[in-house]
Amino acid sequence: MGVLRGAIVPVTPFQQNCTLLWDSDTLQATVIDPGGDVDQILAAIEQNNLRVERILLTHGHMDHAGGAAGLKQALEAGGGAVPIEGPDIRDKFLLDDLAAQAAKYGIPGASNVTPDRWLSEGETVRVGGHEFAVLHCPGHTPGHVVFINHDQRLALVGDVLFQGSVGRSDFPYGDGDALIAAIVEKLLPLGDEYQFVCGHGPGSTFGAERASNPFLRGATVRSV
Ligand SMILES: [Zn+2]
Repeated sequence: MGVLRGAIVPVTPFQQNCTLLWDSDTLQATVIDPGGDVDQILAAIEQNNLRVERILLTHGHMDHAGGAAGLKQALEAGGGAVPIEGPDIRDKFLLDDLAAQAAKYGIPGASNVTPDRWLSEGETVRVGGHEFAVLHCPGHTPGHVVFINHDQRLALVGDVLFQGSVGRSDFPYGDGDALIAAIVEKLLPLGDEYQFVCGHGPGSTFGAERASNPFLRGATVRSV
């Protein structure tokens, strides 16, 4: 087994960081959060000569999940099954409403999607043989999950945490306290050296955010 390599394809007008991860030896790959622009994702898969095993979803928002059904269909047309895994079932109401949401924003091509496997805290998923732990980090959405690879200290955090910010929680189903609690109690304790890829903009490390993220300052002090 080799090491994990990655590429980011910004998708949808929201410039969501659809992420390709693969093993450097086998080129077995996973696509995380294919929100849309499926043709661009397929081009990146082909460019890197990848064989996609599965699609992972962090949460049910359109810019993360709107292209999942279309990508699955396109990939399966060329071979075997490509299961969609995640998020937690508490985001089902969002996945059932993707097409309507996309229409509201005038974004073409989004489809509702039912994952082949719902994920829960404590489960694991595999990316080219590399194991990722599943953490349930609600607040931005009720069923948001985060994927953690301990060997390479890599986290895929979706819209939970950003460089210098945190996810929105002003939706009717949002919960700002739960969001901060998930970051402070589940993510930051993993270690300052963990790097993360987030749903929008540049990534960062848990250490850098612990030190300077204004949304975590008070919360971090309380947790000490
Ligand atoms: Zn979101």
